[in-house]
Amino acid sequence: MIKTEKVLHLKSSRGRKVRVVREHYLREHVPCYSSLCQAQCANAEGKVLSGEVTHYVMPDAGVARDFMEILEFREIQGIVFTQTACQAVQHSRGRRQYNRLRSLLKDPRHHCILFANEFQEYSYCPREKGEPQDKWQTRCVYHAAVWYHDHLAGLKPVVMITEDQTAVAEYSSLNCGVYVLCTQEYLQTFWPELQAALELYCSIAQSLQEKGSEGTEREYTEHLPAEVLEAGIKSGRYIQGTLNVNKHRAQHEAFVRFEGSSNKSSELNSDVLVCGGKNRNRAVHGDMVAVELLPKGEWRGRTTALTEGQGEEKGDETQSQPMATGRVVGILQRNWRDYVVTFPPKEETQSQSRNSQRILATPWDQRIPKIRISTQQADKLQDHRVIVRLDSWDSTSLYPNGHSVRVLGRAGELETEVQTILIENCIHVPPFSEAQLGEMPVSSPESPWSVDPAEVITRRDLRQTHLVFSVDPRGCEDVDDTLSIRSLPPGPRGERLELGVHIADVTHFVKEGSLTDLEARARATTYYLADRRYDMLPAVLSADLCSLLGGVDRYAMSVMWDLDAQTLAVNKVWYGRTLIQSSYQLYYELAQALLNGEEAEVPELAQLPPGERDAKLAQLTQALETLTHVARQLRAQRDKGGALELEGVEVRAQLDEDRNITALVPRQPLEVHETVAECMIYANHWVARKIQESFPQQALLRHHPPPRQEFFNQLQDSARARGFTIDTRSNKALADSLDRAVDPRDPLVNRLLRVMATMAMSNALYFSTGACPVDQYYHYGLALDRYTHFTSPIRRYADMIVHRLLTAAIAMEKGAGPAKALASNKELEEVAQQINNKNRAAQHAQKVSTELFQCLYFRDKDPETDERCVADAVIYTIRANGMLVFIPQYGLKGAVYLKNREGQVVSERQDGGCDWQTGSLQRYLDHITTTTAAGTSTFNLFQHITVRISVQPSRCHSDTIRLEVVSNRPHQAPETQVQTSQPQGARGRSQLVQEVVRQAEEASQQAEEKRGRASKLSTEEREFRQSKCPNLYSLLEEVRELALLDLAACGAGGGGLGAAAQACATSA
Ligand SMILES: [Zn+2]
Repeated sequence: MIKTEKVLHLKSSRGRKVRVVREHYLREHVPCYSSLCQAQCANAEGKVLSGEVTHYVMPDAGVARDFMEILEFREIQGIVFTQTACQAVQHSRGRRQYNRLRSLLKDPRHHCILFANEFQEYSYCPREKGEPQDKWQTRCVYHAAVWYHDHLAGLKPVVMITEDQTAVAEYSSLNCGVYVLCTQEYLQTFWPELQAALELYCSIAQSLQEKGSEGTEREYTEHLPAEVLEAGIKSGRYIQGTLNVNKHRAQHEAFVRFEGSSNKSSELNSDVLVCGGKNRNRAVHGDMVAVELLPKGEWRGRTTALTEGQGEEKGDETQSQPMATGRVVGILQRNWRDYVVTFPPKEETQSQSRNSQRILATPWDQRIPKIRISTQQADKLQDHRVIVRLDSWDSTSLYPNGHSVRVLGRAGELETEVQTILIENCIHVPPFSEAQLGEMPVSSPESPWSVDPAEVITRRDLRQTHLVFSVDPRGCEDVDDTLSIRSLPPGPRGERLELGVHIADVTHFVKEGSLTDLEARARATTYYLADRRYDMLPAVLSADLCSLLGGVDRYAMSVMWDLDAQTLAVNKVWYGRTLIQSSYQLYYELAQALLNGEEAEVPELAQLPPGERDAKLAQLTQALETLTHVARQLRAQRDKGGALELEGVEVRAQLDEDRNITALVPRQPLEVHETVAECMIYANHWVARKIQESFPQQALLRHHPPPRQEFFNQLQDSARARGFTIDTRSNKALADSLDRAVDPRDPLVNRLLRVMATMAMSNALYFSTGACPVDQYYHYGLALDRYTHFTSPIRRYADMIVHRLLTAAIAMEKGAGPAKALASNKELEEVAQQINNKNRAAQHAQKVSTELFQCLYFRDKDPETDERCVADAVIYTIRANGMLVFIPQYGLKGAVYLKNREGQVVSERQDGGCDWQTGSLQRYLDHITTTTAAGTSTFNLFQHITVRISVQPSRCHSDTIRLEVVSNRPHQAPETQVQTSQPQGARGRSQLVQEVVRQAEEASQQAEEKRGRASKLSTEEREFRQSKCPNLYSLLEEVRELALLDLAACGAGGGGLGAAAQACATSA
């Protein structure tokens, strides 16, 4: 080893230049991490570059610094990052960018490695006297490229890419097999089909070029340096928190929710209001900022009234009490993501700036400021949606600077809008890569998958001993869970039963750390949109090998309880891997028919001779009956503890066991739903107990914190209006009083009250046991002290983690250490947060996609003449200037305004119809009245009215649904409405989705024919679409989530009930 000295010129965080001398050690052996290595490098512990590429590419420091986004394309393989380039990223782009590079290097899905060229004795070159840093860095990388090429005995050409033209001229002909190209030429030569990369290159290059020509006039106050912020936060002078922009007043109103308990001033128990752009000081929604409070005299109140478009409200109660108000003094962390924008119309681009290449693009997300972009495509892309990234926001610039990344497609088209929703929610669901699919077991008609004899030995074989069956929605493809129940020989304490829950053994097929595992972890969940779904796992698992289909052998993870047949006291619980064969794949209606003793055909028995069939049918019915009996008792036990039955809440919802619960859709009263749900809850609960006992510091559980009492005010007030009392002192009291709040004349009343209760709830969340005190493990909705997710590993990553924990717990019991070290509490908590975030994104995307379909459905209908645009609505909340209504037919919620911009109010005519007239508005607790010359009109809580539905189009944002009162009487549909047991809302919704999809397809077909060529975008997008036809299950799921979604919106709405209600109110 050779010791030398290395001189570094660094910049401190204050911006000062520092000269650092470091000891530098050189070695002869530094791993090359190439599979072509001829020299026995120690490549074992790291990613290794495949030899199956045409060349290796080595970016120099400048390229790594400025064009890393291009190197992030997974298509570009064989990238060698030199230590020189990595250090350049670290020193010039900061920690965040450097971490991004490091995670790229770690991620096995990206074919890139790090070569520590400066430690390699023969490739290191010291900086010469007077040599500029960038020249030296480029020289270093070139030397590294030459060494690398020689080290691999010339088996692979090495291409160095640089933006330095003189370097290209100087080096390109020096060594055979080592090429030097500029980035653009490289992309054009080697990746001509990767058009997106080239476009991104041009976009970034242009943005870099423009950066030099900025003005000098200061628009904003400078941010304080990091050390000053840190000290200020410590001393309590500044408050640290995440900036939340109020979507409805994006220019004016933002809140900082402070995090941690560092704050000293006791009056600050709420958010800090930040008014206006100057005070926001270039902070973007989602950034972690430091704020300084303004003097109390300058404090302001938050806006509470609903707004339609621009704030037209000037009357009373537009502002609440003054609250802590501050200004942003510095940014602790930027949390910028990809944003979808729309370019300005032609007229504006021309008048916008002297330089016609610069435009101000409007983000789809109203909370994000306009972004300045340099582009030559402004005219061409006028009606398109484009992804952009932010680069910088200097104090001299009124708007942030960014560059475009990719064109999504024409605005208003279904595929463009769906992709927009995914991007805006940071949902990345590319098709599964070849490499990932290569990890999958083979199962095809030619070579069917079969059970491995080695596995049979290690698993408990239930195929002969247990009657296993599943109950799911009709047509379900991915069967996660199956059940069994049988009598055991009587024990010393009497009769015994054995209940079994058998879940797909997904983690047998998906090894921890494999590509499939990493992808599943990144996705965290299967995403359900209104018309499609994006799976967490490849179809060979989710629809085949891990689907517990009838009549085939499958691996399972089982929990089996030995129960006292009378009391259901647990004698023993067995957890472990099993081999099962499900005998019956039942659907809910069929199972219920069997239980009811009705005539029903079980497909599995159809071919049997009558005698045998009757015997088997009797056996199956007996099993279902016992199961029902057990579930009833289990449910009764939880009810005693205060389990809630809320519309759309976690209890049913997130578990999905009760697959028919929807926010507002009449429920099919099938007890078998409850039965299956109860068994799954039981399994989740016992697995939670098991893994928590085994790993008290590092098990993944799920808790549901009790709600804050003040969130129940609206529920209590509304219930009182109908003469009901809601007791919210405990979950038990709440559940009981909700059960009593039934209006026999209108079942919607109870349902709406349950929705309001749901909206008052917090979300259930995953956590690591070591990160939360034991008394907070409680699940409020389920009334259980321990809970987790175990029963749906096909579509939830949390369940996969839990399966691995359970496997480790079982191994530990047998005295074996876990095969792989478990994640630490800190790591697990990070994953838990990641999954929580992804779940929130999934719910939000689902909600927005539903709204998209609603808008697309109504877009082409004339609200004045089309009777589908007129519907019955129920008032569920009274507001200052109107009310919130629910439309059962379309599962739609929204605001109805009773006062318009001109100051007119809605007035009822003699015939029940409504007009706009000059008048006034009076709001009461349970009703709202308008008074005009013609008289007084009253709108009561829970009253049915008739509304007209129309679409408010928007060029840059999503379209929105508008509702207006047609009459304050219930809607009389033209044809007689038949009340059936069918879930009407779901049916209406599914028709709506189908119709929109059909229209979109016809439109795109027509467009294709017109253009005479295939639409590039739609074929590309079609690949992304993993399943198209929604089954009933996913539709119900979606409707059911809506209540929860509002809750999520409340969480992000700036805190407090006022903002929460506002977010909910205007979301529809
Ligand atoms: Zn080597």
